[in-house]
Parts: sequence; structure tokens; C-alpha cells
Amino acid sequence: MPIWEKDNECMSRDELEQLQLERLQATLNRVYRNVSFYRNRFKSLDFRPEDDLTELTDIRRLPFTTSRDVSESYPYDMFAVPLREVVRVHSSSGTMANPRVVGYTRQDLRIWSTIVARILSAGGVTQDDVIQVTFAYGLLTGGLGIHYGAERIGASVLPTSVGRTERQIKIMQDFRTTVLCSTPSYALVIADRIEDMGIDPKQLSLKYVICAGEPWTDAMRREVEERLFVKVTDNYGISEIMGPGVAGECLEQNGMHLQEDHFLAEVIDPETGKNLEPGQEGELVITTLTKEAFPVIRYRTGDLCRILPDPCPCGRTQNRISRIRGRCDDVVVIKGINIIPNRIGDILEQIGGERPVYQLVATRERHRDHLEIWVEVTERFFHDKMREQRTLLEIMGQKITNFIGITPRVKLVEKGSLRRENGKVAAFVDRRG
Ligand SMILES: [Zn+2]
Repeated sequence: MPIWEKDNECMSRDELEQLQLERLQATLNRVYRNVSFYRNRFKSLDFRPEDDLTELTDIRRLPFTTSRDVSESYPYDMFAVPLREVVRVHSSSGTMANPRVVGYTRQDLRIWSTIVARILSAGGVTQDDVIQVTFAYGLLTGGLGIHYGAERIGASVLPTSVGRTERQIKIMQDFRTTVLCSTPSYALVIADRIEDMGIDPKQLSLKYVICAGEPWTDAMRREVEERLFVKVTDNYGISEIMGPGVAGECLEQNGMHLQEDHFLAEVIDPETGKNLEPGQEGELVITTLTKEAFPVIRYRTGDLCRILPDPCPCGRTQNRISRIRGRCDDVVVIKGINIIPNRIGDILEQIGGERPVYQLVATRERHRDHLEIWVEVTERFFHDKMREQRTLLEIMGQKITNFIGITPRVKLVEKGSLRRENGKVAAFVDRRG
């Protein structure tokens, strides 16, 4: 398989680290000049980028940036360029008090499509492919992020976006899709439906599945590969850093190559914030090296993984990261949406006038993830009349749907029935296996 940007993806470590240092220097100078959030922080530490950054590890003197910092800068306070230079804006789903808003200059979009082209190439995509993108097109970065990278390669892009599985399959058949981009669980939903529809998956033209968007396992990879007769690669993206394309697996399937000429990665102990050695598992922290509109310094992704520094047989020299094992904060990921259980409590409190005892439960039925919200009844959350009770449940479901973007099943359960540990009900239970 060809390497999309051989010069950049196969640099020697020395050359790469020199480039990273130069780019980091430029980034720190830029945020110092243009973003008051960073300038204030640097000043309070007496950190002057031009004097105090002589090697990459000097960045460890700087504090972390968190998702809360980004939320609090809503919408544009952390942008490093005037709005007239911003040509695209994306935003996280609104599970925070304020969503996290990110912007891109023309140059940012060019780099974004390039790194997505790199990871798609690594996953087997060429200009001869027909690629069906089932990620959401909209404020989230998934759909459009993959889209422009695939166009950059010259593949034929089918922007089918999410849902309507039978239509997806019909398109897959009729348009002779060769590459499917989807979450791992949706790839399995498609496999199920293909079976239900009596279609022989061998009759499809599919060769590769590019997976991203949720934590998954090797068993799921094998299942997708065996049922759809494809090769599946893992990919990692995060909107605050760029979107899809931050890291992606090659066909060796041994971890995701990080686009290190654009992102500087650290892995830290999420409790102490101390840097860990390569190979140790911890929280991934990323600093952008080339972003113009929305650079971030030491951003805590909340994602747990390891850096894999051993060489990859494919020839790319960029370090890989292991599959994301989960989240280290209290964020729960269901259907690719980040949900903070506490925010659900806020909504229930608004509706009932008091905070009920409740629990989020993630379930998986036939590869499809569902969110259930179990609420212990109290007088405020109980009506004698069935109709009023139903209306209350509908209101709860509707408000939560509006807020997080996926529809939960809200269930009322008996008082005291949610299991307590040390007197506390766990905010989230994962029954997805
Ligand atoms: Zn490789």
C-alpha cells in the first residue's frame, strides 16, 4: 500500500523531533500573542516561549488545558485568529454546560484533509475506491472530516451520514461501495441487517472498514472482518484537537500511527498528572503543532491508551498509540456521544424540582447501544394517573434527547431499588459486555 506523504510519515526520529520543536515554539509564541487564556497562564508562571522552550520536554512546565477550559471559553475566546480568518466552525455535542467550539482556517482545513488522507491510505483506501461515510454530517467533526480526506485521495465519496440502515445497505449494493466508514457497533448492525435481508455479504464489493468513534475490542474487529469479509482498521480523532485523522492504523493492525508532525503527544498518570514512560498506560495529552485557528496546549483528552514506540513493518516512523481502552474522567461514551451523568441529573432536577436518585445504564442489543435512565420514584416523580405519569416520562425523555442528541429509555424504578455501594448509587453502569 502506498504511503500518502512518505516524506512526512517516514522521517527519522531526530528530524521529526527537530520539526516538532520548531513548530511547538511557533505555536507557543502564537498563543502567547493571541489568546489571553494562555498568555495569562504563561505570565503567571513567568514562562516566555522564546527563552524557556529549548527542548520538547520543557512543555511539561506548562499546565494542562481541560475540556472545562474550552467550554468556558465558549464560543470564541480561545481562538487564536480573528473570526474573518476562520472558514469553518465545529462543535461538540451539548453535554457540557457550554459545548466545546472549535474553528479552522483555510490552512487548518488543508492540513486536516491531508492527515485524514494519510490515515485512509494507511487503511487501504485509494482513488479507485467508493467510500461510504456513515458518520454524522453536521456540527460534529466525524462526517465532514472523513469526507474531505477521502476526496483528497480522489476516492468517490458517498456522504450517506448516519442511520437508515436498509437504505445504507441498498446504496452499498447499488453503488458498489468498497470502503465503509462507521463506528464498530454500527458495522455490526449493518452485518446483522444484511443477514436479515438475506443478502450474501460476499456479493458486496466491500474490502475495508474504517472504524472510529467509540471504545471497542479485538473480538468486535474479528466479528466485523469475518461477517463482512473485510479488513478493519482503528482510528482516533477528537474535535478539540482536529477531528478524525489524529491517529490511524495501517493494515498491520497493530496500533494507530499518530500524526506526530502535527501533534505532540504525552501520556500522563490521570491522578497525579505526572508524565509516564512510553508503553505505560495513562491519559493521552495532546498539543497541536500547526493549528492556526484553535491551537491547544497540553489538552487532556480523557482517553486512556499507551504510546507504542517500537517500529512498524509498514515503514511509517510515527509512533503509534494503542486502542483507546476507555475514559479516565466521568464521561460516558454511548453511540459516539460524550455524556456526563451529572448533567442528566441537572435536567431531571429541572423537571421534578428536586434531584432524584438515578442511574445511567448502557446496554447493547444486537450490536446497537442504548442508553437507559433509571430513576427512583419519589412524590415529585410519581403520578397516580397513568396519563400524567406517561406525560412526565415523555417530558424527561424529550428534554434529555434535546440535550444529548440521543434518545434514552427513561424508566421509573422503586424507591431504594438501585444498588448502593457504600451508600452511593453508581452514576453509570455499563452492560455492553
Ligand atoms: Zn504501520
